[in-house]
Amino acid sequence: MRRRIAGRNFLFVPGPTNIPDRVQRAMMVAMEDHRSSKFPELSMSVLEDLKKVFKTTTGQVFIFPSSGTGAWEAALTNTLSPGDKVLAARFGQFSHLWIDMAQRLGYEVQVVEVEWGEGVPLERYAEILTADRRHEIKAVLACHNETATGVTSDIAGVRRALDAANHPALLFVDAVSSLASIDFRMDEWRVDLAVTGSQKGLMLPAGLGILGTSQKALSALAGANSKRCYFDLGDMIKANATGYFPYTPALPMLYGLRESLNIIFEEGLEDIFFRHHYLAEGVRAAVTAGWRLQLCAKAPKWYSDTVSAIVVPEGINGAHVIDVAFRRYNLALGAGLAKVAGKVFRIGHLGDLNELMLLGAIAGAEMAMLDVGIKVTPGSGVAAACEYWRSHDPIPRRKVSQEEQFYEAHSTGSIQG
Ligand code: PLP
Repeated sequence: MRRRIAGRNFLFVPGPTNIPDRVQRAMMVAMEDHRSSKFPELSMSVLEDLKKVFKTTTGQVFIFPSSGTGAWEAALTNTLSPGDKVLAARFGQFSHLWIDMAQRLGYEVQVVEVEWGEGVPLERYAEILTADRRHEIKAVLACHNETATGVTSDIAGVRRALDAANHPALLFVDAVSSLASIDFRMDEWRVDLAVTGSQKGLMLPAGLGILGTSQKALSALAGANSKRCYFDLGDMIKANATGYFPYTPALPMLYGLRESLNIIFEEGLEDIFFRHHYLAEGVRAAVTAGWRLQLCAKAPKWYSDTVSAIVVPEGINGAHVIDVAFRRYNLALGAGLAKVAGKVFRIGHLGDLNELMLLGAIAGAEMAMLDVGIKVTPGSGVAAACEYWRSHDPIPRRKVSQEEQFYEAHSTGSIQG
């Protein structure tokens, strides 16, 4: 039996993420009637406010009691018909799983194989879309943030590729590990279907699959012949119109979501993106300048601000690092999945996080690596991350200067009390 380790578990998998205490408390509710006249106050407010997180004013957001995978399925089956052609790129376990689902649901997927560590191949997409003069491709899939490899793709670039080809295909985006952590602009990029789950940037437990849809996606419902029932948006639209759901909603999750949205708006989306980038840069400094290891992401343009996959040296099994970190130091790191199993371990740096929390993960990973024989210099990762964070602003400049003015005013005695 595993011995008890005192103190808290350090959860640094890239989802589920740490849940803020406020969200935990908001979910501690007695069950109530989801058909009461009061319930729509809650449901309408979260459905409306989620639009701000997707950055859409023209689209509509839906919540399913599922995980992100359910929202993947809802996106596909509500807008496509069996045999429809879909363009997708495979460069990690999650882009792979979405392709696998599309194939199992009976769509004809044109798969572009990409080296794991890179992202959506914009030039290939542009060539394929331009060559598709008869517009047989009905959907273009793009995984915004490939959680398995720590790679972020350029969704604005995918939109440009579609526009350059004057192609009418629907743009589907997996924003499971990017939404509310990395900038995502549904209206500006004219994303038609955007998928996420509750357990990442939204800082909730797993249990909600969330789908943003454009008006163009909604107008595709009538012509889409895929079989669907539980995930039928038609049923959802009817029920949501008055603030209800076609089945029993996950009530505590909705209360938790209300609180997580409050927290997100208090910090501000742009500041959240800034914080994620700043924290991620510190982790990347630990990996490259400190440990002298490599990221799975092949070039800076692919670096993810929500997760880093760290390549372990030849002859070392990454799973061993993760197991030692967990059993010896009470630290949960992300495993290498599929093609990169054993070759990487991952540090999730998304959600409710700050520098000192991340230093725990970096120190724990460092000790676990030393324990399994990886020759990193003790303290080097922690030192490099500290150096980065100490020499960079933790909040955007405009806020720093406001704070500086405040402190200056205090130190010169111009504010009393
Ligand atoms: N897509 C990405 C990018 C993910 O990271 C995940 C899960 O980690 C999923 C999809 C699947 O989401 P879920 O596990 O919530 O079904």
